[in-house]
Amino acid sequence: MIRVGFIGLGHMGSHMCRSLITAGFDVSAYDLDPEALLRAREAGARPASSVSDCAAGAEMLVTSLPGPPQVDLVLNGAEGAIAALAPGSLVIEMSTSSLEVGRRTRAQATEHGVVLIDAPVAGQTIRAEAGTLAIYVGGEPAAFARALPVLEAIGDPQQIFHLGPHGSGYAVKLVLNLTWFVHAVATAEALTVGVKAGVDLDKLHAALVSSPANSNFLQHDVRMVLDGGDYDEGFAMKLVTKDLALAVELARDVEVPVELAALVEQIHRRAQASYGDLAGEMSAVRLYEDLTGVELRWPSP
Ligand code: NAD
Repeated sequence: MIRVGFIGLGHMGSHMCRSLITAGFDVSAYDLDPEALLRAREAGARPASSVSDCAAGAEMLVTSLPGPPQVDLVLNGAEGAIAALAPGSLVIEMSTSSLEVGRRTRAQATEHGVVLIDAPVAGQTIRAEAGTLAIYVGGEPAAFARALPVLEAIGDPQQIFHLGPHGSGYAVKLVLNLTWFVHAVATAEALTVGVKAGVDLDKLHAALVSSPANSNFLQHDVRMVLDGGDYDEGFAMKLVTKDLALAVELARDVEVPVELAALVEQIHRRAQASYGDLAGEMSAVRLYEDLTGVELRWPSP
């Protein structure tokens, strides 16, 4: 049995950790939140008392943390995981994080003889629960091959992408999220304008889905809102704006002007300010509903 440490048992990590236990890995788990740790224990993990306790003796360590500051602290801090891991062990860092912290972590890992890949995920909590996440990997081919049994326990084997050297996984995940949140705003604008112009929401939606303007967000994801006013609290607005800021920062680093991304980031920040840090990831849609007095629900009255 391969010994795996798992740190970060939140909306995503709790399910990912359970998938590893179900797949037969010997898992020790850690989170700052005692209740999250208790749930992992009930799922069959050995609860660890600290980051370094979780990492000690693990052949592989998986992290699913909010963002760059937490990744930096947990992996690179004085009491961090990399210092506690044995040389030769593998870190699979699955948070949506920055290339900058990724580079710092890689330097720290190399110094300790530890191997690192970045492997952020997509698919919302529903696919985390089903063990069918999409995974975007950056790192050496040998490290990717070694991580595959863990990745396949968490993700859909058809949607595990090895994208290039370290950092590639983070880059793809950030532009993926940026595109999705641009689509969220575009969809909210289009639907509220169409309904205000007097078109039934169901007819408007059906026409747009079969038009050249269709998108995955329009066809599938916005249905959570239309079906029953679910804005998906499984992904909190404070993480949405964190991701958008990281995407804009990445664009700045590679010197690409991204006027649209910067504007869309501010619209989601407005939604966060209006509905709170913990409001669901589709709160920008709600912003347009509240601005126009149009409730996007079907069937249309
Ligand atoms: P979350 O906030 O629900 O979970 C993060 C967990 O990390 C929490 O339980 C928190 O207590 C723990 N944590 C924070 N600092 C810690 C520390 N120093 N030591 C130990 N534990 C610590 O976040 P989430 O929604 O599970 O997301 C995790 C990552 O996955 C994020 O980077 C997010 O952007 C990304 N992501 C989330 C979703 C989603 O739908 N929720 C989808 C794709 C990617």
